[in-house]
Amino acid sequence: MKTLVINAGSSSLRYQLLDVETHEVIQYGRCEKIGEQKSSIYVVSGEQYKKLVLSIPDHEQAMRLVLKELRDPEIGVVEDFREIDAVGHRIVHGGKYFDGPVIIDGDVLNKIIECGELAPLHNYGAAKGIEACMHQMPGIPQVASFDTAFHMTIPPVNHVYAIPYKYYEENDIRKYGFHGISHRYVSRRAAEMMGKPIEELMIITCHLGNGGSVTAVLNGKSFDTSMGFSPLDGIMMGTRSGAIDPTVVTYIMQHEDLTPDEMTAILNKESGLLGVSGVSNDLREIDQAIGSGNQRARLAFEMYAQTVRRYIGAYLVEMSGADAVVLTAGIGENSPAVRQRIFEGLEPIGFKLDKYRNEFGTPDCEISTDDSICKIFAIKTNEEYLIALDTKEICEKYGLISE
Ligand code: ADP
Repeated sequence: MKTLVINAGSSSLRYQLLDVETHEVIQYGRCEKIGEQKSSIYVVSGEQYKKLVLSIPDHEQAMRLVLKELRDPEIGVVEDFREIDAVGHRIVHGGKYFDGPVIIDGDVLNKIIECGELAPLHNYGAAKGIEACMHQMPGIPQVASFDTAFHMTIPPVNHVYAIPYKYYEENDIRKYGFHGISHRYVSRRAAEMMGKPIEELMIITCHLGNGGSVTAVLNGKSFDTSMGFSPLDGIMMGTRSGAIDPTVVTYIMQHEDLTPDEMTAILNKESGLLGVSGVSNDLREIDQAIGSGNQRARLAFEMYAQTVRRYIGAYLVEMSGADAVVLTAGIGENSPAVRQRIFEGLEPIGFKLDKYRNEFGTPDCEISTDDSICKIFAIKTNEEYLIALDTKEICEKYGLISE
């Protein structure tokens, strides 16, 4: 089954055409700097690739370009869109409405746009992409997979904030959680690698990319997660602060006479690894700066690992144990130094990192010792594959494609 997976970011649009049965990626690519002066599209089909620099004013245009490249006489991989069985769209925010993937119709599209108030940078772009697909690929099922959906199982004790209850009841202010597709994928993969049913496992998944979150996956379901009402909460990130005392926010706003938008920009774009180190949001550059003796880069690194440790500790206690911890995304998959720092000194409570496996293993791999009570894995996340699988399952359920 050929599925086109669309992943719209705030100023990017990534896509993959893949065969979910064979795992083959037939064509993939990304549009970058959408809405800026010089945008670009990068396309790869097997050995062939191309990059064009051009103007891409919005996500609708980006989607049109992608569809054009899929049918391009040189690099294209289909002659007719009817060769594509379905399209799966990654949607960041499904609000209170969606606890799993759905076939997109007018009502679903309206709800995605409505939830855009909670994730304006992502949902509106995704909605534009959906509209372009519906228009250019009539009759081909469009499916939405939500990042928030996996976290809808988080119980009230973990998703209600300790503020007046009316905000929860009347304004839907609650923890939603993010990166759900990635947490779901890597927790399932860890269970598979352990050869045990996920329903019997307690797993802590750490998605450590530019953005990052930690999730407690209890018996296959999200039980708690570090991101909250927005993706700003939780661990320290590349440019995001993560959890801080809310009074810091109001205090800075009052003293510097800042608007909510200005303060939001500081917390989202100027904080985290970048804000503390003053060097970069990129861990590789932080590593280099540490190498040349930069003390603030060292502090940023230490703080980063410490916030991840804090949530692992919290979730270990919340679930009364953990069978496995998974590290994924750019940092989790690639940084032995961060992984080592996270588990340093935790042998007495059951986490034993294997130095050699941690240094030389390539994900997906186990990086704990054979006698570690809690297993530790580095797993390459694959959100596109899970979205394609969701798309296949829901299309089969509704008889939209033959099984
Ligand atoms: P995004 O959230 O943008 O998808 P990624 O999952 O690509 O982010 O992760 C980006 C982060 O991963 C950056 O901080 C980058 O430094 C880090 N990273 C990527 N490769 C490596 C590596 N080989 N060693 C250390 N860090 C890495």
